[in-house]
Amino acid sequence: MRIVRPLLLALSALGSHVFAQESASAPKQRHDYQSDVARLRKIVINSLYSHRDVFLRELISNANDALEKLRLTSLTEKEVLSGAEDMNITIKAYKDEDGKGRVVIRDTGIGMTAEELTNNLGTLAKSGTSEFLARAETDTTGTGNLIGAFGLGFYSSFLVADRVYVASLAAKSSRNPEPTQYVFSSGADESSFETFPDPRGNTLGRGTEITLVLKDEALEYLDPHRITDLVDKHSSFASTFPIYLWTER
Ligand code: ADP
Ligand code: MG
Repeated sequence: MRIVRPLLLALSALGSHVFAQESASAPKQRHDYQSDVARLRKIVINSLYSHRDVFLRELISNANDALEKLRLTSLTEKEVLSGAEDMNITIKAYKDEDGKGRVVIRDTGIGMTAEELTNNLGTLAKSGTSEFLARAETDTTGTGNLIGAFGLGFYSSFLVADRVYVASLAAKSSRNPEPTQYVFSSGADESSFETFPDPRGNTLGRGTEITLVLKDEALEYLDPHRITDLVDKHSSFASTFPIYLWTER
C-alpha cells in the first residue's frame, strides 16, 4: 500500500443534504432485494460482528476484479480506458459534515451501469455466497470459519456501515458510448434499495466509489493506521493494482 498525503477534503460527499436538492428530473427507483439477499444480509448483520474487519478485504477484492476486467477488455476495446488514466484503488476515511464517519473506497475499474448496479448488488448470482448461506443457516456455531472459505462479498459492507452508497460510472464502450453515473443506496435495516442518477454528475471519470457511512461503533476505521494494518495483513494479496490511502498531514 502507498500512502498519499495530504488528504484533500474537497470531497463532494454523497449524503442526504446532497439528495435533498435533487430535482424531479432525476427520479429514484426503489427495488426490493431478492429474498436470498435479504437472508444473507440478516446473517451478516446479526452473527458476524466479530469478523467485521473482512469488509475491507471484500471491497478491495471487488475493486481489483473490476480493474482486472477493465484491463482484459481494453486488450480488444481500447476506448474503455478513456475517462481515467490510472488503474488503481484509493481509500479515504474522514468525518462528514454531520459528524458521521465515512470510509470511501474508489477504483478506476470497469464500473457498472444502472442495470448492473441493480442486478449485481441486488441479487445473489454468486454460487459461493449461496453455499455460504445454506451452510450458515444450518450451522450457526461456525459461521466465522465459513467466511474464509466462501467470502461474503459486497454485503459485508453492512457489518460496519448503517448506509452504503455505490456510485459508478461504467467504462465507455461501443455498446455504451455515453455512460451516466448512477448511485445505489441502501440502509443496513432496509429490505429494499434505491438507484438514481448521481446528482453530482459524471464525477468519477470511470469506475466505482463505495461510500460506507460508518456505524457509530465502527469509528475505529477512521484511523489510517487501522486501515493500513488491515490492508497489509489481509488485503495486500487481494489486489495486484496499487492501493493508495489518503491521510491528513
Ligand atoms: P463476487 O465478487 O464474488 O462476485 P460480491 O458480492 O463481492 O460477489 O460482488 C457482487 C458483484 O457486484 C460482483 O460480481 C460485480 O459484478 C459487482 N461489483 C462489486 N463491486 C464492484 C466494483 N467495485 N466494480 C464493479 N463491479 C463491482
Ligand atoms: Mg467480491
